[in-house]
Amino acid sequence: MNSYNNLPTIKRETFAFKPGKSLENSQGRTGVISTPHGDIATPAFIPVGTKATIKGVLPESVSQLGGQAVLANAYHLYLQPGPDIVDEAGGLGAFMNWPGPTFTDSGGFQVLSLGVGFKKVIAMDTETFRSDEVMAKNKERLAHVDDDGVTFKSHLDGRMHRFTPEVSMQVQHKLGADIIFAFDECTTLHNTRSYQERSLERTRLWAERCLVEHRRLTRERTHRPYQALFGVLQGAQYEDLRRKAARDLGSMEVDGVSFDGFGLGGALDKENLGTIVNWMCEELPYDKPRHLLGIGEPDDLFTGVENGADTFDCVAPSRQARTSAVFTPDGRINLSNSKYQRQFSPIDENCDCYTCTNYTAAYLAHLFRAKEMVAGTLATIHNERFIVRLVDQMRAAIVNGDFLDFKREFLGRFYVGNPKRQAT
Ligand SMILES: [Zn+2]
Repeated sequence: MNSYNNLPTIKRETFAFKPGKSLENSQGRTGVISTPHGDIATPAFIPVGTKATIKGVLPESVSQLGGQAVLANAYHLYLQPGPDIVDEAGGLGAFMNWPGPTFTDSGGFQVLSLGVGFKKVIAMDTETFRSDEVMAKNKERLAHVDDDGVTFKSHLDGRMHRFTPEVSMQVQHKLGADIIFAFDECTTLHNTRSYQERSLERTRLWAERCLVEHRRLTRERTHRPYQALFGVLQGAQYEDLRRKAARDLGSMEVDGVSFDGFGLGGALDKENLGTIVNWMCEELPYDKPRHLLGIGEPDDLFTGVENGADTFDCVAPSRQARTSAVFTPDGRINLSNSKYQRQFSPIDENCDCYTCTNYTAAYLAHLFRAKEMVAGTLATIHNERFIVRLVDQMRAAIVNGDFLDFKREFLGRFYVGNPKRQAT
């Protein structure tokens, strides 16, 4: 075995976070994350390119629509094309021709959601039962978790695979994103309290193992740019568990290596999203960035920013776009509705995206009906721009001191006639 002391020291100067202006009486703030592939002004929405592509959209368009970084999925890229191929290509950014910063998640959420089929943000009102055996209807349990890791069945060919904290680090180092996440157990809000406690301890031990393996790989792979590791906080809807997770991972250090930032993870109860994010951010070190995993609904983004989250990712804007559901300042509309067949104006008059600058809603409505490929492309460009710009506007509003006015104005119009808001 190699002795750690014989390996070169880790160069960390290529990753940094500088907090900027704070939001009065709350945890919200602006900031800048610096990575070896460029800076990210925060708060920021990070478009998701699950399999190393934002579906239907070229990297040039992602850049043009204001995307500052791209987040890909370690589970999907592990299965296809495999981490070795991405590594040989020079890492995720080089492979997909995206010159800017990149993220990969740990695969924990995807692997474990094979087991139960749960959603990220749910309304708890009607879902009060607790069980550790809950599963989505008609879903086979495809993942089994134990203290050492998770065994799961590939959704592609049914073959069995195993992820441990070490495997997740090895995969993510080969994928080579600038920001990677620790492997965690993602529970649902339906698990019992005693299961949440055991799971949180498991996630804490996995976080330590991730730091050890990350340290080893960082020292071994000196030919690659520095990768920042974010610890992932769980704890479901319980204040003591969420605060404990933040304190544990916030102060965790293995041989001089600590987390560069934090992922705020787990399934989240929509009504208490802000409270839960606030608990964690109160406990976390102020000078490290916080990524709220899998959140992209407009009201949830305001809540996240206000309570201290710096970056966000979500597949919803592109997934919805491909089903002809697009954002407007007056809420989400569906272009399959016949009334858009003769709307010879853009989806949104005030949108500055490529789609709204050049095409009418009528044209997109036609492309969707005709099942033309470019329909999804144009709608995705619009939706991603809408959400990226919304978070950019939040950042500007924090700087200008009018965040709450902007929030009231935007949400009042977007959710008009739907005061209970929309869950995705
Ligand atoms: Zn647009």
